[in-house]
Amino acid sequence: VRPVPSDIDIAMAQTPKPITRVAAELGLFNSEFEAYGRNKAKVSLNVLDRLSYRKDGNYVVVAGITPTPLGEGKSTTTIGLCQALGAHLKIPAIACVRQPSQGPTFGIKGGAAGGGYSQVIPMDEFNLHLTGDIHAVTAANNLLAAAIDARIFHESTQSDKALYDRLVPAKKGVRTFSAVMLRRLKKLGIDKTNPNDLTEEERTRFARLDIDPATITWQRVLDTNDRFLRRITVGQGPQEQGRTRETGFDIAVASEVMAVLALTTDLRDMRERLGRMVVASNTRGEPITADDIGVGGALTVLMKDAIKPNLMQTLEGTPVFVHAGPFANIAHGNSSILADRIALKLTGTAEGLGADDSPKGFVVTEAGFGADIGMEKFFDIKCRYSGLMPNAVVLVATIKALKMHGGGPEVVAGKPISEVYLNENLELLQAGCGNLAKHIENARKFGVPVVVAVNRFSSDTDAEVELVRKNALAAGAFASVSCDHWANGGLGAVDLANAVVAACASHKPEEFKFLYDLNLSIEEKIAAIAREMYGADGIELSEAARKKVETYTAQGFAHLPICMAKTHLSLSHDPKRKGVPTGFVIPVRDIRASVGAGFLYPLLGEMQTMPGLSTRPCFFDVDVDPDTGRVYGLF
Ligand code: ADP
Repeated sequence: VRPVPSDIDIAMAQTPKPITRVAAELGLFNSEFEAYGRNKAKVSLNVLDRLSYRKDGNYVVVAGITPTPLGEGKSTTTIGLCQALGAHLKIPAIACVRQPSQGPTFGIKGGAAGGGYSQVIPMDEFNLHLTGDIHAVTAANNLLAAAIDARIFHESTQSDKALYDRLVPAKKGVRTFSAVMLRRLKKLGIDKTNPNDLTEEERTRFARLDIDPATITWQRVLDTNDRFLRRITVGQGPQEQGRTRETGFDIAVASEVMAVLALTTDLRDMRERLGRMVVASNTRGEPITADDIGVGGALTVLMKDAIKPNLMQTLEGTPVFVHAGPFANIAHGNSSILADRIALKLTGTAEGLGADDSPKGFVVTEAGFGADIGMEKFFDIKCRYSGLMPNAVVLVATIKALKMHGGGPEVVAGKPISEVYLNENLELLQAGCGNLAKHIENARKFGVPVVVAVNRFSSDTDAEVELVRKNALAAGAFASVSCDHWANGGLGAVDLANAVVAACASHKPEEFKFLYDLNLSIEEKIAAIAREMYGADGIELSEAARKKVETYTAQGFAHLPICMAKTHLSLSHDPKRKGVPTGFVIPVRDIRASVGAGFLYPLLGEMQTMPGLSTRPCFFDVDVDPDTGRVYGLF
């Protein structure tokens, strides 16, 4: 339809296939999925065992150039490419995308289901509650937060003996340790399982965590942009007897529990990661974990359904996994390892081993933000933990963003777009292609072929698209293809799909490499990313960051990969510096640890972990037709 209707009007005009049919088409057995209503299903991890004999399908990661605040179409391209492969070229293809946070959906950005004729449907279910995974993350995160404050309270009001007796109560005269308590005893080096056998000193050591309240890093979370919760004081009720403490709320997807969900490889691994999460230090400077507080098992129970990937579909009826949505700055901003793994088996092949030698298909997964952040973390964090290796990178670019990098006026969300972006301007475009070239070179450092996808807007001209192609090939891209799947659905991305098929065939696995060695020091790893990915001259650590390097090294966390918390609006740490900034040193303000998820995150500037609502948020547009129940205004 021309002009292209709004995203929600397109999404609502299509009737989705029953999700049971999508599951059957994927080759899932009835016992391997649970339908959540008509349009969504959770997929069992048992599929991995059943299909373990298969070789994985092709693995493609979609990343982007340094974006404008509007986004350059990575989600749209992920979906469009899968529609092209699955619905037009008839090659099995599964898209793996993140579950969006409700905060931005009602705040500034609107939904994240893709756009135009390349979307996940139903987009209201996708953007809102889905199957409750974010709610589960919120529940788990806040149980731990409550447990921390309650524990400090009880330790401060009770004698050593009373504390031990209450923690390990005698039921019908018999005291027993729970499984999580046995974990703590093991950590303390107390090799006893009968609570009566502990010495006085061991009982105290077991019962007293001595959490230093000033060191608590664990915040409460909520999936709403609620700026008034950024800084709060807890413990103001009379029963808490003046034990007040300053803390705050983050948006739910910034919780480490979400990062754990995204990086976990099975239920056992999730149990270990949730238990390992460090929430504070004790008064002796030793890390205190969720398992020390006794809540690791309960957190896993709250997350046991969330660990299963969610199955949905595109507008053209091809399968989509929606699973996990970690923040892209303080976390790694990629969808889950488990969804990718299951998808790779479902699109895999037995290669002559038996009855099912179906042709190898494609899994297209998306990495958030620009490639300097999302793609780097995809390789150095996600691929390290998954053991998977992609066959190709799709780098999404728009003419508009490239012109902005060439010196065009700033693009601001919610404001009308400048004329410069609506007319041909080859000089500005050429000047901005450096940003594209840098991202291509960056991707090539991992030894993977790069296909540039020029996400075409109606005002882009053929000469502009051709200029981008020349620049991309000169910078080492395998191919550069213009695509208009936003306006034309999968058909508009068939050329892109063919280029991706060829790029995957050209891929040489032996060329794959990580950017840095985990055994380097924390500082060396940060410096490697700053120099190689951002083009910085070096890094400069603040006093606070230097202290953290010492602490984390002493605590045994120096081997973890690095998850840079940097603006996505520039290759540098300064969002105003467009194009390819040079002659800068990256300031590291602080370093924090997500030990359960498994990374250290250096903060390069002020990082907002609880967005606010503006004067005019998206929710003004959202409503429901009371007669039909139809949602409108969700973009
Ligand atoms: P990203 O994933 O990179 O943040 P999205 O795919 O979410 O970007 O796209 C951002 C917005 O831009 C969406 O609202 C989408 O509908 C719109 N969009 C994407 N591609 C096009 C296009 N070619 N023409 C017009 N609008 C587009």
